[in-house]
Amino acid sequence: MIEKNEENKIEFSFMAKDENVSSARLLAASFSSQMGFTLSEVEEIKVAVSEGVSNAIIHGYKNNSSEMVSMELICVENLLTVIIKDKGCGIANIEKAMEPMFSTIADRMGLGFVFMQSFMDDFKIVSQIDEGTTLILKKTCKL
Ligand code: ATP
Ligand code: MG
Repeated sequence: MIEKNEENKIEFSFMAKDENVSSARLLAASFSSQMGFTLSEVEEIKVAVSEGVSNAIIHGYKNNSSEMVSMELICVENLLTVIIKDKGCGIANIEKAMEPMFSTIADRMGLGFVFMQSFMDDFKIVSQIDEGTTLILKKTCKL
């Protein structure tokens, strides 16, 4: 268990492949459970990370698996920050993209950002067309 006030950080990057979503999710789960998040909070973090990483692969890179997605897991005291970054196509209209049920792909549900927002305490998107997208997700551990 990480002592209070201790800092910790993991930074890694991976090819934009579907099978790497579960690796990212597992690393986030292990990092956050070491911080003292409850099992159900860890489940929420896993969903938010899966959604963010999947978006980078599917939308940012349009499944071009030679591109790289990066993820940072940062612990400062009891605050977890997850930063997910792609250098893909970017988001034209962030407000629209965050609307429930909005998707630019017909058979998708358009709920990824809704899950990220409801499962994390704070959620920010920074995106620029043709430059890429960065998601900053924060959650405080109450223990
Ligand atoms: P679901 O997540 O339910 O499968 P979805 O991915 O379309 O569907 P969201 O995750 O909420 O829904 O994303 C909404 C929209 O925002 C996407 O359809 C896409 O147009 C855009 N988007 C999200 N992430 C990115 C990204 N990293 N790069 C480019 N566009 C993105
Ligand atoms: Mg999505």
